[in-house]
Amino acid sequence: MIPDNQIIDGFSRVHDYLRISLTERCNLRCTYCMPEEGIQLRDRKEFMSGEELIVIAKKFVELGVKKIRLTGGEPLIKKNIDQIIQGLSNLGVELAITTNAVLLDRYIDLLWDNGVRNVNISLDSLKADRFNSISRRNYFDRIKKNIGLAIQHGFNIKINVVLMRGVNDDEIIDFIEWSRIEPIQVRFIEFMPFDENNWDWNSKVSQKEIMDQVYSNYGTENIIRLEDEKNKIARNYMVTESRGSFGIISSITNPFCDTCNRIRLTADGKIKNCLFSPNETDLLAVVRSGKIEDLKPLIIDSVKKKKKYHGGIDSFEELKSDDIVNRTMVSIGG
Ligand code: SF4
Repeated sequence: MIPDNQIIDGFSRVHDYLRISLTERCNLRCTYCMPEEGIQLRDRKEFMSGEELIVIAKKFVELGVKKIRLTGGEPLIKKNIDQIIQGLSNLGVELAITTNAVLLDRYIDLLWDNGVRNVNISLDSLKADRFNSISRRNYFDRIKKNIGLAIQHGFNIKINVVLMRGVNDDEIIDFIEWSRIEPIQVRFIEFMPFDENNWDWNSKVSQKEIMDQVYSNYGTENIIRLEDEKNKIARNYMVTESRGSFGIISSITNPFCDTCNRIRLTADGKIKNCLFSPNETDLLAVVRSGKIEDLKPLIIDSVKKKKKYHGGIDSFEELKSDDIVNRTMVSIGG
């Protein structure tokens, strides 16, 4: 008998972690996330208002969601971000955010005062020119300064690095060296296929390739394998005598679907039961129809249909960029 305050799929995975994309807009143009010209912007009416978002989030919390992560595009450019964060923090769940940190200095107090402690920051290079070319904007110095500010303030900082062969895979050791002197967790994220990001199988860097570099640089005896947390996606390590750690997130070559507890709500109010699944359920239309009582059954039903692995994609090795049926990364929020 499935308890009515839990969201469980056909493989008995309990889903208690909701990632909410607040906007498809961003102040960067990262090559692996969206085309240079950006994506076709849509009328604001097509997106959840702050009030509608809270109504939907409440239903997820009533169904057992314990953690909400805010994503985007870039969540901190969302108008009325303060009302949204205050509204969500009143739901009594763990609130976290993934940001590019360009505007982080402006919202440090808002985040801290509303209980946000876990902040994931995307930074794909430690070289200013290279970062600015990957993101197609010149915010490197500002982002580095804001990361320093957030560390000082006591946030738990994770640095997300999307590794791309021939682009930034020569910086693995530099990033790990950074995690030795700062209390941060660097996470190397495997490049993943989404709409319009020119992905191909050979452009990703596997866990084995990363660890080969690590062991040859530090020696196996100086690398500690850290215990994985429940439902966690990263395999974590640290170099002996480090203030921080590093992790590897290989959702394609080393999937972690068996313990997946994640659901996504897009900025236009649709549930994605898996990052790679093209199937979506429109909750915003239900809210606007006034049939709030229909939200919970729809949420439960959407997750019940979840595939065991990768949204039903059997092999990424055969996958061609043009065959991808999904959204752009910026309109999912990772
Ligand atoms: S690919 Fe889908 S099922 Fe697998 S971990 Fe990611 S969201 Fe969960």
